[in-house]
Amino acid sequence: MNAKLIAPCGMNCGVCMAYLREKNKCPGCRIIDKNKPITRTQCKIKNCKVFKYKKVKFCFECKNFPCDKLQYIDKRYRTKYNMIKNLENIKKLGIRKFVENEKIRWTCSKCNGIICVHKGFCVDCGEKK
Ligand SMILES: [Zn+2]
Repeated sequence: MNAKLIAPCGMNCGVCMAYLREKNKCPGCRIIDKNKPITRTQCKIKNCKVFKYKKVKFCFECKNFPCDKLQYIDKRYRTKYNMIKNLENIKKLGIRKFVENEKIRWTCSKCNGIICVHKGFCVDCGEKK
């Protein structure tokens, strides 16, 4: 788990089902891979023009934060994960500290595996969060 796995929207790709699965694995939002599943490359946030010139790394740096697109995706995840809160934490604590906290938050207490945000349990041993 590292800073490169934190997507512009605040999602931690390191705990995403698409990243954790074995087959057709997604390398993470920020990693360029031609074999990436198409649903992962068509993200409205990732393709937002503010990221094009790389001056902006995260949504919170944008003057439109939190925009409609972000609020939409945040709402979809809200029960399991809170992107806007994540972004606010990155802004407040810095990316390093945020990643440290994420590691603690998503590490399985039983086997030190990673808990999947979508499934809500450890991908290695099945322990629930
Ligand atoms: Zn486990």
